[in-house]
Amino acid sequence: MKTAFITGVTGQDGAYLARLLIDKGYQVHGGVRRISHSEFERHEILGIAGQVTTHEFDLSEPNQMLRLFTKLKIDEFYNLAAQSFVGASWELPIYTSEIDGLAVVQMLDALRTVSPETRYYQASTSEMFGLVQEVPQRETTRLYPRSPYGVAKVFAHYMTINYRESFGTHASSGILFNHESPLRGKEFVTRKITLALSRLARGGDEILELGNMDARRDWGFAGDYVEGMWRMLQQDAADDYVLATGVTTPIRDFVDMAATALGFDIAWEGEGESEFGVDRKSGKRIVQVNPKFFRPAEVDLLIGDPAKAEEKLGWKATTTVQQLAEMMAKFDYDALA
Ligand code: NDP
Ligand code: GDP
Repeated sequence: MKTAFITGVTGQDGAYLARLLIDKGYQVHGGVRRISHSEFERHEILGIAGQVTTHEFDLSEPNQMLRLFTKLKIDEFYNLAAQSFVGASWELPIYTSEIDGLAVVQMLDALRTVSPETRYYQASTSEMFGLVQEVPQRETTRLYPRSPYGVAKVFAHYMTINYRESFGTHASSGILFNHESPLRGKEFVTRKITLALSRLARGGDEILELGNMDARRDWGFAGDYVEGMWRMLQQDAADDYVLATGVTTPIRDFVDMAATALGFDIAWEGEGESEFGVDRKSGKRIVQVNPKFFRPAEVDLLIGDPAKAEEKLGWKATTTVQQLAEMMAKFDYDALA
């Protein structure tokens, strides 16, 4: 039986990956911080509550990592923990740099010291492409991060490559484009949309306020993406891979997809900061722009090229953005029953 350790096991990806590895017969350990936001809500939803062996773990405690990695014999290590919200990273640039950047080299170094055979997965991100230098973005595209989150993740990405090249660590970096699910954090735009529209569909009285609706994202389903992470660590040689759908969608279109799934029919009016959406059926305004949600620097367009993952890992996204919007809207609507 193989042993895996997942940091961020309480998060969206951590929960899906834990379920995948449990189903594959792994003994799954997970790092959980004392001040966890979500605890095991996601594990309950996926039916794996109590099946992960948990350890107190915080990315800001390097000695704790060392003690833990000495005690456990870990075959595969998945570093999914992070301050993962781009929007918060301008207010928390130092914390984000420590947790998403510096802590990664501490982990790599702890593993190199006490467990050099462990295979390592780093959760890199399409946010590293930021102001995109090529369309679509692939493993070789020049990086140009646009947020403290993106900058910290670039540092971690290059450290992962550096440990692979310097010490022969089996360290792979998954450059994952946005991936969502009913377990997505409520501050991310897709979930914010499906939650607010579900409340409205249940008779709630609110207006969904959003920032830049012209930004485009390549959205896939988290359940598909954790399979790609696992496949990376099964390769003889470690490498870097883009996981994406290859389709990009403006935020506004995601609103339309979720709204349609919940029985609304939106007519868009106005432009820029004055844009709003009215439900044709009720005549009520249900969406509007609030500049409060604009970012100091935006990532306007993300679209990934997953060809390498398809060829080398046999991995392909199976869920369309339309199916994703419907899945999330249904989950949130049903949860309000
Ligand atoms: P989540 O925000 O859902 O989960 C983040 C996890 O990290 C949580 O378990 C959280 O624990 C944990 N965590 C946060 N800070 C610390 C800390 N100081 N010490 C230990 N654990 C901590 O993120 P996702 O599951 O969506 O993403 C997983 C990884 O993939 C992240 O690194 C993210 O940056 C990256 N990524 C995500 C993408 C996406 O679209 N989802 C795209 C590309 C990359 P707690 O429960 O305590 O809050
Ligand atoms: P990100 O790609 O990791 O930053 O994921 P998010 O879901 O947080 O944001 C995706 C895009 O949606 C970004 O371009 C945001 O500027 C845009 N966006 C527009 N309105 C909002 C909003 O109200 N909340 C969030 N989180 N993003 C928004």
